[in-house]
Amino acid sequence: MINVVIFGAPGSGKGTQSAFMIEHYGLYHISTGDVLRDHISRKTELGEIARSYIDKGNLIPDDLMIDILASVIDEHRSDASKGFIFDGFPRTIAQAEAMDKLLADRGMRLNCVVGLDVPDEILIERLVNRGKESGRSDDNPETIRDRIALYYKVTSPLKDYYCRRGLFHSVKGWGDIDLITAGVWKIIDDSK
Ligand code: AMP
Repeated sequence: MINVVIFGAPGSGKGTQSAFMIEHYGLYHISTGDVLRDHISRKTELGEIARSYIDKGNLIPDDLMIDILASVIDEHRSDASKGFIFDGFPRTIAQAEAMDKLLADRGMRLNCVVGLDVPDEILIERLVNRGKESGRSDDNPETIRDRIALYYKVTSPLKDYYCRRGLFHSVKGWGDIDLITAGVWKIIDDSK
């Protein structure tokens, strides 16, 4: 089993690289953003709560997010015999600590955390373009800036958290897409 966190700012290409990893390694993809957007579109109670945070570019509270992750893992363990890709989780130190415990309790561990490094101006350009196509409520210029700022403030400190555990590796996340993908796969292959 290979369990990978794909890590980076909004717009860094986590979803794109996840799609390639699903195909190449047969991993089961958990995008917490997709899980929340699915609840919003189904108008569930959780969706209503999530919308109030997402539309403002804020993070969903840790306790709620950790419960959601645990239930998605438990629901899909049988689909994930090869392992999981965690995309968009963890986003805070509290989430990372809870995830360590959650995986250990299930006899699982993280193999690696793959960080995609992309300069801010490219992130903004990608997200503005994505917003035109996807209609995502949080892909508008003002919310994009808030989300990137929040990433630097509360999420990027996770790099140190995972560096200390020898799990963090980063890849240049812009330019030739084949090179990015090759860099991501090399990190995963070396972590097996
Ligand atoms: P994403 O699709 O990963 O960019 O997530 C979209 C939005 O969902 C984020 O801006 C947050 O509001 C919320 N979200 C997704 N994952 C998390 C998480 N792990 N912790 C808190 N909020 C999250």
